[in-house]
Parts: sequence; C-alpha cells; structure tokens
Amino acid sequence: MIIVPERSIAGLLSAADCFAAVEQVFASMARKSAYNFPVIREAIGHAGALYGFKSGFDRESLTLGLKSGGFWPSNMTKGLTNHQSTVLLFDADTGQCRAVIGGNLLTALRTAAASAISIKYLARDDAKVLGMIGAGHQAAFQLRAALDQHPFERVVGWNLHAEMLGSLGEIAAERGVPFEAVDLDRLGAEADVIITITSSFAPILKAAQIKPGTHLACMGSDTKGKQEVEAKLVSAATVFADEVAQSVTIGEAQHAVAQGLLAEVAIIEIGAVINGTHPGRSSAEQITLFDGTGVGLQDLAVASAAVERAVEAGIAFDVDF
Ligand code: NAD
Repeated sequence: MIIVPERSIAGLLSAADCFAAVEQVFASMARKSAYNFPVIREAIGHAGALYGFKSGFDRESLTLGLKSGGFWPSNMTKGLTNHQSTVLLFDADTGQCRAVIGGNLLTALRTAAASAISIKYLARDDAKVLGMIGAGHQAAFQLRAALDQHPFERVVGWNLHAEMLGSLGEIAAERGVPFEAVDLDRLGAEADVIITITSSFAPILKAAQIKPGTHLACMGSDTKGKQEVEAKLVSAATVFADEVAQSVTIGEAQHAVAQGLLAEVAIIEIGAVINGTHPGRSSAEQITLFDGTGVGLQDLAVASAAVERAVEAGIAFDVDF
C-alpha cells in the first residue's frame, strides 16, 4: 500500500495534472461510467466537528475509494487547518487498500480545477475581465487556476471582509495582471467571468448587476442553505453542474429549483460539454452558470494522479499492509 503524506502533495501535482484528472472524471460521469455514492455528513457531538465521507467509482480509470474528513472548528488554535481530509484508494479488482493520500491540498486543487474547466468550456473566448467574489482560503486557488486557464487582462474583486482582498491582489500581481477592489455593481458590469467562492447563506450578486454573455462559476455553495447569487440570476442562466443531484440539493441551484424558477431537468452536466454531447454556450449573449458543488470523484481523481506522480518521483512510501 502506498502512502502519500499531506506534506508531499505540494510540488507533486501541477495545476495541469489536476485539470486533466478532473476533466476526465467529469467526462466519465456524463458517460455514466463513473458515479458518486451517497454522501455521509454528520455532526459527531464532539469538538464541534462535522465528519463524513464522499465515495465513488470510475469504471474507466478503475479509481475506487473515498475521501473522509470534515470540519473541526477549533483546529486553528492547534495550528491545524479546520478542514481535514484523507483519501483512501482501493484496488477495484481485489478490494485491497491501494493507497492513503493526504486530502487537504488536494481538495483545494480539485475545486480550483473545476471552475477553470467551466471557464474553458463555457466562457466566451474573448473574455477579458475576471471578477472574484470571496477572498478566503479557497479563493486564492480559484484565482490561480482561472489565470492559468484563460488570458484575463484584469481582475476585479469584492469581499464582505474587504481587508482580505489583498491576498488576491498579490496573486494577480505575481501573474502581472492588474487587480482592483470594486463594489458589486462595478464587478457585475465589468466582469466577463465571475467566480463566487464564499461561505454565504444569502444572495450576494443580483441578476440586474451582471451583463449578457457573463459566465459564472458558483463554487461556494456546497451545503443545504448556502447561497451566493439571487435565484432569479440562476433561472436567467443556462445552468451546468458537476453533478445534477448535488446541484439541486446542496448547490447554488437548490434555491431556484425549490422556488420553481428552474427545472432540475434543465441542468446540464458539464461532462456532457466536455464529451461534445452538449454544445455548451450557444450564443455570445447567453449567461452561463456552472454550479460546482464538489463531488467525491474529483477527490479520487486527483488523489490517483498524486499516487502516480509520487511513484514516478520515487517519494511514495510503500508499506506492507
Ligand atoms: P474561508 O473561510 O477561507 O473564506 C470564506 C469566504 O467567505 C471569505 O471570503 C469571507 O469573507 C466570505 N464570507 C464569510 N461569511 C460571509 C457572508 N455571510 N456573506 C458573504 N461572504 C462571506 O472558506 P474557503 O475555504 O475559502 O471556502 C469558501 C466556500 O467554498 C465555503 O462555503 C466552502 O464550504 C466552499 N467550498 C466549496 C468547494 C466545492 O467543491 N464546491 C470546495 C471547497 C470549499
């Protein structure tokens, strides 16, 4: 059994590796070759923790496993990150445990890959301005992956806690792209692509604030009740998702669907666009919205890539298990 510790992940996987792994598994999901098992998430009544696991199987890559972990709100005081996760991969032919991989950085990388994939397939080719709503831990990863994916000429950002926007400004500066903190009216009016990555439970961006042709990657809503954009904006858009079942229950689309503004059957799996069975954007004026809820198969795909890279680099611990 191979062990790839958390500390080895940085430097092991490139953004391109993560992008390719997530793109492959989204495509496999749309071909019905890969599927996620029901998610378990429980408050364990200890340390204020939320614990659970996400599991799945991709028959195309024979990737079988689970990501286990959750949220421990007091970890910061112990010098640990509040979100903790570990991936276990199993041999699809024998059920033996194949690998244990640190899952914290992988979670950030696979989430960033998802919004970048949506930009590749759904944003207008002539998009110039990227809008960022949110400036926490995950926003930095989304911004880097978006700048890797598309030649944006400018970044505008808004965050409820404006003092946090400096970190995004630094990333943009590293890439030689100008960054400006703006209000939501300006962000919506200027951005061609908008990434939302906050822990908000109430709509931040309104339908009236964005312009035709915008692509939105809504990445923060991954739990029942979370919401980043007005339900009216979701219903005005053509909606794509990593997985429709999660989109309508825990994703950004949950509110529009619950209010009868959007039909579940109207939501398109992004994998269908990757596979070419759905054309994706159909006009320059169309508003597209990717509801990235985060599926277990994304974790397994990047973990599997990390194992491959660790073996190639000779840094994987191989233990008799
Ligand atoms: P974080 O705690 O580091 O940052 C939270 C961000 O939300 C900050 O920008 C903060 O200013 C903002 N915020 C907090 N309360 C707000 C409110 N009431 N209204 C508007 N903004 C508010 O968290 P993070 O790790 O950056 O994660 C951000 C979100 O993304 C979380 O909801 C998290 O669960 C989600 N997430 C989703 C995926 C996925 O696959 N879709 C993966 C990882 C994280």
